[in-house]
Amino acid sequence: MHLREVHPGKADSRDLAKAERAAATSSALSARSLPVRSSRPAWVVPLVLIVVAISVVTAIVYLALPPPETDVTKMCVNHSNVGQHKHANLRILILGTTLSIPEGIGIEGDCMHPLHTHAADGVIHIEGPAGRTFTLGNFVTDIWGKPLNATCIMTYCADSTHDLVMTVDGAPSTEFGDLVLGNGMDIVIEYRLK
Ligand SMILES: [Zn+2]
Ligand SMILES: [Zn+2]
Repeated sequence: MHLREVHPGKADSRDLAKAERAAATSSALSARSLPVRSSRPAWVVPLVLIVVAISVVTAIVYLALPPPETDVTKMCVNHSNVGQHKHANLRILILGTTLSIPEGIGIEGDCMHPLHTHAADGVIHIEGPAGRTFTLGNFVTDIWGKPLNATCIMTYCADSTHDLVMTVDGAPSTEFGDLVLGNGMDIVIEYRLK
């Protein structure tokens, strides 16, 4: 009796017999289960590799992009490492006069925000991480600090005698601040008499 020889006097014979039966059963079980473990289905390894590969790619893409909720005013870019560089044209007409959009909007000290102007020519430079979308409101309101909505541009608000209208590439738009900026877009906001 194996247990009695190895551990003499540690348990009475009834317990030993039980223990030996249990040991025999468990070794029989593990002997039976061994071939099952070694004959793992052929697709398991490729599946694990695919899952790992997808996780790695997802992590890389996620790390390359700033979180979508990052406030545009908290982002700084430089011209050498942007994932997108687009331009949109903005013209603001107040009662027939083109309002000047200054140069240097969005450039504060050593932080250049993704939406900025380099000249007083109405060109909005859109420079930021690839895949990130920016709206007209991000530029006019968040960066430049001027109100823009369906009723008002700056202090000019539609009323009984004035309209506020917007066109994008010549077509009427009601998006105002929600307009997603695209490359080559021609945006005109006009405050005019009815
Ligand atoms: Zn540019
Ligand atoms: Zn720029």
